[in-house]
Amino acid sequence: MERTLSIIKPDGVQSGLIGEVIKRFEANGIRVVAMKMLHMDKEQAKGFYAVHKERPFFDSLTDFMSSGRIVAMVLEGDQVIEKNRSLMGATNYKEAAEGTIRRDFASDIEKNIVHGSDSPETAAFEIGYFFNSFEICEQ
Ligand code: UDP
Ligand code: MG
Repeated sequence: MERTLSIIKPDGVQSGLIGEVIKRFEANGIRVVAMKMLHMDKEQAKGFYAVHKERPFFDSLTDFMSSGRIVAMVLEGDQVIEKNRSLMGATNYKEAAEGTIRRDFASDIEKNIVHGSDSPETAAFEIGYFFNSFEICEQ
């Protein structure tokens, strides 16, 4: 059983897509085992995306991620890292497959509705960034 971190980004919350995103997870056998709403400040967003700190889009991305409320979730399931990434679709919504969250709802390469960890190592770091062990509910 694997875990991953999902975030409904400020554009997803603003567009009223919290329920829609969670519905897709649950319909695909993914369990939500922790969840919270928060509004990151710029420093928190920079810490979360530290891996991208040399990228040209880093400043804009961290402004965006600290611009409004987000929903952070720990997802659990068989191969959930890959499963979540495939429900999300490609980073660029224009390249995302039909029926994916980003293809259906994103309108910008930056404002693309959801985040999902991309490996077991990043999942461990990202889950720990938002949740302590008491906040993650075992079945
Ligand atoms: N991003 C961007 N411009 C780019 C690439 C990425 O604004 O050219 C933003 C976008 O919001 C993306 C995030 O930075 O989701 C993290 O980038 P990454 O390559 O890790 O994509 P993801 O893992 O989210 O698909
Ligand atoms: Mg990524």
